[in-house]
Amino acid sequence: HHAFSGWKCERCDLTNNLWLNLTDGSILCGRRYYDGSGGNNHALDYYSETKYPLAVKLGTITPGGADVYSYEEDSMVMDPKLSEHLSHFGINMMIMSKTDKTMTELQIDANIKLGEWSVIQESGHELKLVYGPGYTGLQNLGNSCYMNSVMQVLFALPEFKERYYDTAVDTFKRQTGDPTKDFNTQMSVIP
Ligand SMILES: [Zn+2]
Repeated sequence: HHAFSGWKCERCDLTNNLWLNLTDGSILCGRRYYDGSGGNNHALDYYSETKYPLAVKLGTITPGGADVYSYEEDSMVMDPKLSEHLSHFGINMMIMSKTDKTMTELQIDANIKLGEWSVIQESGHELKLVYGPGYTGLQNLGNSCYMNSVMQVLFALPEFKERYYDTAVDTFKRQTGDPTKDFNTQMSVIP
């Protein structure tokens, strides 16, 4: 696997947190984060000037995909033709390996840094520590805590547990097509 090096922001000296604009191949640094880390906003500035909407984060490209951001939609997006778009700029997705953090990994880091754990623990209160089967939560990504709490409530219902947890092995055995597209399989892997 190849890890390309020598990439640098076209407007400053940053060599990581770089975004390749998929319209013209410009390579510019990412946003500055609330804590002063991150980039110098050059990719975002470039979008404001040009309105070229899509950028891929260099260092997150692997044969399985990459982080693609749409400035127009102001969110991460899927680019179903990513492989073609990258090959236009001489990047063969199939031989690339990961060298930088994905946006998901950065969000997990940020949650840890913000001391979410101390909030969850209700710092200052006398609480009894519980752990073990039935007490393990789901990893939070950004705003997914709302979804996680709904899933945890659902799986606490005996009927739901019976349908998607107790029969999970049978569901996996019956499953024939693409497991990522099968609702029953995906529901059964959550617990
Ligand atoms: Zn820059």
